Amino acid sequence: MAKQKTAISPTRVEDYPEWYQQVIKAADMAENSPVRGCMVIKPWGYELWENIQRVLDDAFKATGHHNAYFPLFIPKSYLEREAKHVEGFAKECAVVTHHRLEDDGKGGLKPAGELEEPLVVRPTSETIIGEVYSKWVQSYRDLPLLINQWANVVRWEMRTRLFLRTAEFLWQEGHTVHASSEEAMEETRKMLDVYADFAENWMAMPVIKGEKTEGERFPGANHTYCIEAMMQDRKALQAGTSHFLGQNFAKGFNIQFQSESGDREYAWTTSWGVSTRLIGGLIMTHSDDDGLVLPPRLAPSHIAILPVLRGEGDAEVLAFCEKLKAELESKAFAGRVIRVELDKRDLRGGEKRWGWVKKGIPFIAEVGPKDLAKESVFLQRRDTGEKAAVKATEFVETIGERLQEIQDNLLSRAKAHREENTRKIDTKEEFEAFFTAKNKNKPEIHGGFALCHWAGTAEEEDRIAKDYKVTIRCIPLDDTEGPGTCPFTGKESPQRVVFAKAY
Ligand code: AMP
Repeated sequence: MAKQKTAISPTRVEDYPEWYQQVIKAADMAENSPVRGCMVIKPWGYELWENIQRVLDDAFKATGHHNAYFPLFIPKSYLEREAKHVEGFAKECAVVTHHRLEDDGKGGLKPAGELEEPLVVRPTSETIIGEVYSKWVQSYRDLPLLINQWANVVRWEMRTRLFLRTAEFLWQEGHTVHASSEEAMEETRKMLDVYADFAENWMAMPVIKGEKTEGERFPGANHTYCIEAMMQDRKALQAGTSHFLGQNFAKGFNIQFQSESGDREYAWTTSWGVSTRLIGGLIMTHSDDDGLVLPPRLAPSHIAILPVLRGEGDAEVLAFCEKLKAELESKAFAGRVIRVELDKRDLRGGEKRWGWVKKGIPFIAEVGPKDLAKESVFLQRRDTGEKAAVKATEFVETIGERLQEIQDNLLSRAKAHREENTRKIDTKEEFEAFFTAKNKNKPEIHGGFALCHWAGTAEEEDRIAKDYKVTIRCIPLDDTEGPGTCPFTGKESPQRVVFAKAY
């Protein structure tokens, strides 16, 4: 059989990592910057981020949080105040040591004006915010303190990939302070639920909520919870984290409050974050060999109208398209006005159409003189590729339902993919076969989520990571099965955990 031509080359099966880069390029979302590991986010990628921000920001505010902004630079000594935190982040810190440039005598410039104390470019803000909070929090009446910041952070990552792992990335970080351990834990879990709800209902990306094992815990946290999603290559992506920080940062930064009974007590803190990595997850969950596929609830634009212009009758076609655009834009979907691109560029029809397919726009509506005569549009739906002529009035009336249909289809497709590639595994042999047996038709793809009992130590977990390049993604929170036997140690295990290869 002749190979079907796809808009993206290589295809997912041929070379998944390269396919991912090519999808981003073809959709014109982002590009690598001259500085290694950093990225330029282009309008089609940035507007997606703005939609993510808007929905999450509403959810944070609905749960009682307020936004604030803290400085980019953190004195090095602050990081040193929480031992595990500094140990975890030291290797990834960008450090500012000078505050100006001066003539180097060879026609160039050299850094000068050495700072008394080096400043770290924030890799995360627990320390600087902890210092500020120690002044804001005095009494139980100041609690809970519920704050979020939208910012950029820098982690000097060695192996970077657009959106998924970059040296500088955009994110939000929530930092809260509570009077009791119970309340801080409740907050930690509540924000995990906010993330899971967002992933499923807006990104159409099903996730497993769970707790990380000790080895994968955030440096300085007592408990780290996460949402884990399965990408189309069956690898896991950690898509968001929520940390219960106990009193570790409160002690490091002296966040104390006077309780109702008059005692001075250390407070309990949490932090939680999601980043531009979500965009990488969205791309890898839904896109296909023709490019990006966008969930309509987050798509920068919903519909591209393409007038078929031939010289004669163009004015009528354009007038019809303008009217259609205005009618569609008078409607709303998922709390946002519908956005329409009327593409009048002087390009060949096929080229124009494929451009929008690659950008993942949910609907393409072509209008030529023949369609005009029937007052219809020739509609192409991105997720299924379905094409049909539809009356323009009907299209306008049903646009909301049609967009929701795509949204639902993407979620059920992603759920089915995850189910197909999740196995309960009870022996070491099965585990090994699951993660090492190659599928002849799909040489790059094997494995998925293995639900296994686990009672091993951190060292035994490391051993598995070395042997199979597989890690425990999380200990699911919604386990219903209960105890069993760990196939690796033969010991009693409290519940199954999720093993997978991961990004
Ligand atoms: P953390 O503070 O390590 O818990 O990370 C908070 C969020 O940022 C998580 O959702 C991570 O997936 C995400 N994240 C961590 N490192 C990176 C990176 N280098 N690029 C993009 N996102 C990241």
